Amino acid sequence: MDINQIYRKAVLSVAERPQIEQLVRTKGWGMAQRFVAGDTLEDAVRAVDELEKIGVHGIMDLLGEMVTTELEANTFAENILAIFDALEARNYPIYVSIKLSQIGQDLTLANGENLGMVNARRILSRAKQLGGFVRLDMEDHPRVDLTLEQLRTLQLEFGNTVGTVLQAYLYRTFDDRKNLDNLKPNLRIVKGAYLEPETVAFSEKAEVDRQYRRLVYAHLEAGNYTCVATHDESIINDVKIFVERKKIPRDLFEFQMLYGIRRDLQKNLALEGYTVRAYIPYGRDWYAYFSRRIAERPANVLFILKGLMRG
Ligand SMILES: Cc1cc2nc3c(=O)[nH]c(=O)nc-3n(C[C@H](O)[C@H](O)[C@H](O)COP(=O)(O)OP(=O)(O)OC[C@H]3O[C@@H](n4cnc5c(N)ncnc54)[C@H](O)[C@@H]3O)c2cc1C
Repeated sequence: MDINQIYRKAVLSVAERPQIEQLVRTKGWGMAQRFVAGDTLEDAVRAVDELEKIGVHGIMDLLGEMVTTELEANTFAENILAIFDALEARNYPIYVSIKLSQIGQDLTLANGENLGMVNARRILSRAKQLGGFVRLDMEDHPRVDLTLEQLRTLQLEFGNTVGTVLQAYLYRTFDDRKNLDNLKPNLRIVKGAYLEPETVAFSEKAEVDRQYRRLVYAHLEAGNYTCVATHDESIINDVKIFVERKKIPRDLFEFQMLYGIRRDLQKNLALEGYTVRAYIPYGRDWYAYFSRRIAERPANVLFILKGLMRG
């Protein structure tokens, strides 16, 4: 395992400890705002306003995951539906990321239906009406089978209003991509952000990067819409060369990055005429998202230690 992975695993393991969560939740909101657009939908819309000025579109993400009650799941679904109205009112592209675990993937209704699917259908019906798009984020590995199965069902019902995410760090992903090809899915390719065991995921960063390129190239070559979601400049440069060489049109792919990370690069790519979207997380349920961002880069731990010391 290389040093980046050791660091990442250490941070994600520590972050799971209740005392740490309590400490960071109490003192960390100021720090979290480096990666989170704010508390409210209005804050997130303001972030879209700023990004649109530099030619970057927004991907709205109401933070929250792994809910355990019907009430919470339905409340998240209602709040996600409210995003559509806010974007429509401003004439912005309607583009939202959701987590199935946030809207009830773990809950079964008395009639046997999966609540996540019930809420996903509500959300997708509205998105389809408005010509929008909804991405099902990919969570930790025990959810991958169910999420891909639900994506298949939803894509048959709602067509290209829906897409999902594949994570390069999982051994299985190259086959998963191939198996989805008959759907011609719109996929976001990421490296992967969760704490995963070596039984399911590559532990060397170089190997994850290699798989990442393979996946992006394979999806593009299959003629499918590909969202290249990374801040890794060397990968981005290689993708630019690849699409030139293969004459892949610019309307078949886009670059995606996270709010608060490499805004310079987002702006430059937009100036070069590429489609660029930034993922805009907002809401009070920021702890898990924030931990994953801290875990991605060793320098971020200094940022958090300084912040906690300032108190
Ligand atoms: C739009 C979008 C959606 C995503 N959705 C998912 C998802 O559904 N499921 C999932 O598992 N993961 C998701 N991710 C996260 C992803 O898996 C990676 O964890 C994350 O993108 C960091 O990896 P990287 O590709 O940027 O490469 P890395 O090799 O980790 O980073 C490359 C460079 O980017 C910069 N950088 C990266 N992360 C940070 C950071 N936190 N702080 C400061 N600088 C940083 C640094 O300069 C670093 O050297 C998403 C990422 C993006 C951009």
